[in-house]
Amino acid sequence: MTRLNGKTALVTGAAGGIGKETALLLAREGATVIVADVQDALGADVATEIEKNGGQGIYLSLDVTDEAAWTRVITTIEEKYGRLDVLVNNAGISDRDVLENTTLETYHKVIAVTQTSVFLGMKAAAALLKASGTGSVINISSIFGASGGFGSSPAYHAAKGAVRLLTKNVALEWAPLGVRVNSVHPGFIATPMMGDTDTTPLVDVTPLGRLGRPEEVAAAILFLAGDEASFVTGSELYVDGGYLAR
Ligand code: NAP
Repeated sequence: MTRLNGKTALVTGAAGGIGKETALLLAREGATVIVADVQDALGADVATEIEKNGGQGIYLSLDVTDEAAWTRVITTIEEKYGRLDVLVNNAGISDRDVLENTTLETYHKVIAVTQTSVFLGMKAAAALLKASGTGSVINISSIFGASGGFGSSPAYHAAKGAVRLLTKNVALEWAPLGVRVNSVHPGFIATPMMGDTDTTPLVDVTPLGRLGRPEEVAAAILFLAGDEASFVTGSELYVDGGYLAR
């Protein structure tokens, strides 16, 4: 597997769920993968799994809301590998309640982890991505970045909607510099983020009639990361079992 040979990729929130499957897949396709998360033990396990599979991966602790931590991680990548070709801004958290029951503290926290992190990540990685020659950013939004969902989780919808348009805005600025920026919008995917959610209503509104698998989102991210997507920028790719087609 060689689609990403010679490239270096950073995946945030890569200790579990979609981020983990993405890190494993990008490494299988030849990328050197930096696994970043706040879950240090689980994240280190992912890097170990990459190495056991014959790939190249390291774990770096990164709270995506912390600008100084971003600077440290990007500096480490530059010193160790001298390049960064792919940035997957995947880390995100959700609120659960309706607007009236959502505290300002919760609202700010979800925006920080799910939205502001994407700004910080692109800003910190900008110089290396521009130097790459084939730089690609994949920002993970959601079906809830383009629809009102079930009328709950207001901070999550606001954050994911912002990620969708921030992606397009930066795609325009970086297009002449050869850096592509796209968003991926998963539907309901079976990951730890689902927690103890009753998934029956989610399956009911999904035309394909099941939850998605993290590997199915990772496959879309791989496409956008690699040179097969060399004419794709500013776009939004839905991996949602048909949810938004309804
Ligand atoms: P997940 O299983 O919860 O994994 C996310 C990872 O990010 C966790 O390891 C989490 O750690 C970590 N994280 C949380 N806050 C962080 C921070 N400040 N800095 C760095 N890492 C942090 O989530 P997932 O379901 O794979 O979701 C991945 C992305 O896809 C998210 O952006 C999510 O919004 C999006 N998405 C998911 C679905 C879905 O149905 N699963 C649908 C649409 C979009 P903790 O465990 O400590 O929080």
